[in-house]
Amino acid sequence: MPPRVVNGMSVDVEDYFQVSAFQGAVRRDDWAQMPSRVERNTERVLRLFADAGVTATFFTLGWVAERHPALVRRIADGGHEVASHGFAHVRASDQDPDAFRADVRRTKSVLEDTAGAPVRGYRAASFSIGEANLWAHEILAEEGYAYSSSIYPVRHDHYGMPAAPRFAFRPCGERGVIELPISTVRVLNRNLPCGGGGYFRLAPYAAFRWALRRLNEDDRRPAIFYFHPWEVDPDQPRPAGLSAKTRFRHYVNLGRMEGRLRAMLSDFAWDRMDRVFLGEDRAAGSGP
Ligand SMILES: [Zn+2]
Repeated sequence: MPPRVVNGMSVDVEDYFQVSAFQGAVRRDDWAQMPSRVERNTERVLRLFADAGVTATFFTLGWVAERHPALVRRIADGGHEVASHGFAHVRASDQDPDAFRADVRRTKSVLEDTAGAPVRGYRAASFSIGEANLWAHEILAEEGYAYSSSIYPVRHDHYGMPAAPRFAFRPCGERGVIELPISTVRVLNRNLPCGGGGYFRLAPYAAFRWALRRLNEDDRRPAIFYFHPWEVDPDQPRPAGLSAKTRFRHYVNLGRMEGRLRAMLSDFAWDRMDRVFLGEDRAAGSGP
């Protein structure tokens, strides 16, 4: 048997009302007044990982870190990697280069001050790096980031760059950042998503297990998976004014998520993104 491939596990730390699909129903100015669930839900995720003996990467909003600094410290103390999800979940594709630079700089500094560890990874809100803003990678490198995981090489109405490479690549040459695209599996000449999102709650778990095995055993490649703390919270408040499509995507099978995650954490090997893809030494990290 060839050695088991270790996959990259990630969590996008944001509250249930901060997702891009809620933009029309919950204004950014009202965020501070919304009942917050991010702390208890992230604690639940931390327990899930502790039970499975897995360390992961937590792409965290600067907005969340400023309001919940103890949570960010608990993430770091658990041996996990703290990385940047931007400050207030503005899509990179809605920012010009100056606004993008200010955002990734501010978030990195807030997270590093809070976690007490260097921040090397970035994930754009809603996978919003694509053909139109590939300049973002240059800025990330200039601002001291080592990698980005901001491209989902699929066709989707809100995000996606189907023509992007499916596996790790360097968009600006040997010295630039590495882009780590969310995992897809190639079926009938199309990239199908298998790295998380609503798909993971909608499709049977067996389909995901098949796709991840195919990546690990046929392609001999690590998968990159992501989910959100609000996905393990079936009791979250439900704001009014959401479209039927958004409601379906956000709430479908929330009650099954935790069980599926437990299965996936034990069926495959997982670790922090920096360890899997940057060749970070276990001994050199802050973790166990
Ligand atoms: Zn997000």
